[in-house]
Amino acid sequence: MRIVQAEVLVTSPSRNFVTLRLTTDDGVTGLGDATLNGRELAVASYLSDHVAPLLIDRDPHRIEDTWQFLYRSAYWRRGPVTMAAIAAVDMALWDIKGKIAGLPIYQLLGGASRTGLRAYGHASGTDIPSLFDSIRHHLDLGYQSIRVQTSIPGIKAVYGVASQKQSSGQRYDYEPAGRGAYPQEEDWDTRAYLRHLPTVFEAVRNEFGPELPLLHDGHHRMTPIQAAKLGQALEPYDLYWLEDCTPAENQEALRLVRQHTTTPLAIGEVFNTVYDFQTLIKEQLIDYVRAASTHFGGISPLKKVMDYAAQYQIKSGFHGPTDISPVGFAAQLHVGLAIHNYGIQEFMGQSDATNTVFEQHMTFTDGYLHPGDAPGLGVHYNDDAAQHYPYQQAYLPFNRLADGTVHDW
Ligand SMILES: [Mg+2]
Repeated sequence: MRIVQAEVLVTSPSRNFVTLRLTTDDGVTGLGDATLNGRELAVASYLSDHVAPLLIDRDPHRIEDTWQFLYRSAYWRRGPVTMAAIAAVDMALWDIKGKIAGLPIYQLLGGASRTGLRAYGHASGTDIPSLFDSIRHHLDLGYQSIRVQTSIPGIKAVYGVASQKQSSGQRYDYEPAGRGAYPQEEDWDTRAYLRHLPTVFEAVRNEFGPELPLLHDGHHRMTPIQAAKLGQALEPYDLYWLEDCTPAENQEALRLVRQHTTTPLAIGEVFNTVYDFQTLIKEQLIDYVRAASTHFGGISPLKKVMDYAAQYQIKSGFHGPTDISPVGFAAQLHVGLAIHNYGIQEFMGQSDATNTVFEQHMTFTDGYLHPGDAPGLGVHYNDDAAQHYPYQQAYLPFNRLADGTVHDW
């Protein structure tokens, strides 16, 4: 068996997605997600100009060998563009192997370790009443765990608050990346955030009681000592996790945070390889691995990092916003179902337009996800639907402080 075609498909049904489709000489197809929000065309070029020609005539069954060949033969290792491209190939080969075997991928990874994958949803509000409405709405949808994001008095637009207006005047809703030729500018004040957030969690706990698992995303904006202070301030509200409390390129920074708080920590959505997690896992500086199949090199390395994390009782909390396509999302659902150390899965759902392009077997029932039992990933790419949505340039926003300094977004 050999690969005879490698197509790079770019579509924009409410946001941009890059998909790799491989076809074998028997006509079996496999899909992989190569979406890198705001830098989509760089990965499309990496795939079509430098990877697709290398895949023709290769044996699609040799997943590990192909992964190692693409990783090591490039000489220039790691980075989000390279690893998203390799991820797409890895997923597509697992998809093909599953279809040939007649089995969903989780069966090839060892079979199901649970009946369903607990998910958390994104509740947010510009004030306490609208936040409570959003939490109730998510509970009505079946979610049993809730991420809480809120506006901060004095700041115009804050990451993760769906109903607020962006600088462009558009609602945030599902996707913070604004379409256009230049990123939107937002503002930020960490001291205002640190003062306000604990009051929000106090109000939420008073309204919804002690049992509801609550999460929060700090979105890389704090210094280590600020993150330690926030973790400590939130301890009375018993968070399921505090996410991305610092920009974790500096893994050692988490030692300081860890020394000061028992609030569980989740990190890693912008990481690309196991090396980005090495210190965090070995020194037990985090509780949840936030990697996404799409930006971490695919199914194969995601399974490996979780096996490493399992030795330290660290669980999964894979990144699952709308910029992980339904293909990448399915890939990590298969991993999550198979591994023992599953934690929780972020799940926002996709737009109706996206769901017409990517036809899926995934289900969400009573707060639990399941990838379905179709052979392979369980996702079909509808070319006719995709043609209605050509690529549109879009960028994630960026932050400036009151004095004009660029800050982490
Ligand atoms: Mg996040």
